[in-house]
Amino acid sequence: MIKTKAYAAQSASTALAPFSIERRDPGPHDIQLEILYCGVCHSDLHTARNEWRNTLYPSVPGHEIVGRVVAVGSQVRGFKAGELAGVGCLVDSCGHCPSCGEGLEQYCENGFVGTYNGPAFGGENTYGGYSQTIVVKKSFVLKIRHDEKQLAAVAPLLCAGITTYSPLRHWKAGPGKTVGIVGLGGLGHMGVKIARAMGARVVLFTTSPAKTDDALRLGAHEVCISTDPAQMARLANKLDLIVDTVAASHSLDALLTLLKRDGTLTLVGAPENPHPAPHPFGLIFKRRSIAGSLIGGIRETQEMLDFCADHGIVSDIETIRMDYINTAYERMLKSDVKYRFVIDMATLR
Ligand code: NAP
Ligand code: ZN
Repeated sequence: MIKTKAYAAQSASTALAPFSIERRDPGPHDIQLEILYCGVCHSDLHTARNEWRNTLYPSVPGHEIVGRVVAVGSQVRGFKAGELAGVGCLVDSCGHCPSCGEGLEQYCENGFVGTYNGPAFGGENTYGGYSQTIVVKKSFVLKIRHDEKQLAAVAPLLCAGITTYSPLRHWKAGPGKTVGIVGLGGLGHMGVKIARAMGARVVLFTTSPAKTDDALRLGAHEVCISTDPAQMARLANKLDLIVDTVAASHSLDALLTLLKRDGTLTLVGAPENPHPAPHPFGLIFKRRSIAGSLIGGIRETQEMLDFCADHGIVSDIETIRMDYINTAYERMLKSDVKYRFVIDMATLR
């Protein structure tokens, strides 16, 4: 076993603090990474504080992991020691159900294994990226083609990037389509960059007027303050797709009115408490849909990383020390992040 320093929450109400964990020795199909940077996702906070009521403690969050390969198993081809690599939200799945067969491991019919919080509801726990090193099956490790100097800003692509890329691809964002992104946080700012690079017209919806200039700089064609009914009314029936990244419960009715006939509102935000059910008329009269989307499979995550490398896309980040994590969580709750915290793991050594 490999002893590793980490940061863990011991209960829903305790701050994250130093903790020691063990990783398995790399098997023939495993890769061991020295973790250099780990992004801070709002899901880390939901999990550390048991907001989804399924947290296994101690909880070591972190699923936006980038680092350097330090060891590869005897059967591993395609990776060698010294290379950069990434690990996202998944570290295993059954490998034989129809979803796994289509490369959609996140929808594994026998339950995927999360990078942290394992198979929730009773299975074995797993420990995430707020740690020095991790050992992962090769088939769940991603190649990084970005320049090494950008490595910290690549980390958030492993969750925020793929979680927005996947629905944008699935619902065919591209030239001739108008896409709304709701919430300018970690996911939202990646959604703006990626939808723009795909060729769509991008409208960013925010509750924070002070983020307007940033949204335009990040790639939005237009910004709408979602709390202003007049601004919302001007966009009625104009959007083909909306990706809602908001981390808190809110009404969906006003967003539905923005969709064209046959448009789709896709929920990716996963708040502690559910959104109130929308009025059916908002769906019925224009045959609109509400959908959801979960991260993305490994094949699509690699496709997204390559797309971002080709388009020069990384995350806008604030690099933090490991011991700043509890303050970072408080700032995330106040929407005070531009636009993703990334932990420099050298500060844990
Ligand atoms: P984040 O950085 O905190 O961003 C969330 C944004 O939502 C905020 O910047 C803010 O944008 C808006 N917001 C937050 N609280 C709000 C409130 N009370 N009222 C209105 N707007 C509010 O979070 P994130 O890391 O992007 O994650 C967003 C959500 O997606 C979380 O629930 C997370 O768990 C979930 N998630 C889902 C998946 C998936 O696979 N579906 C994957 C990763 C994360 P404005 O200031 O612009 O309004
Ligand atoms: Zn995440």
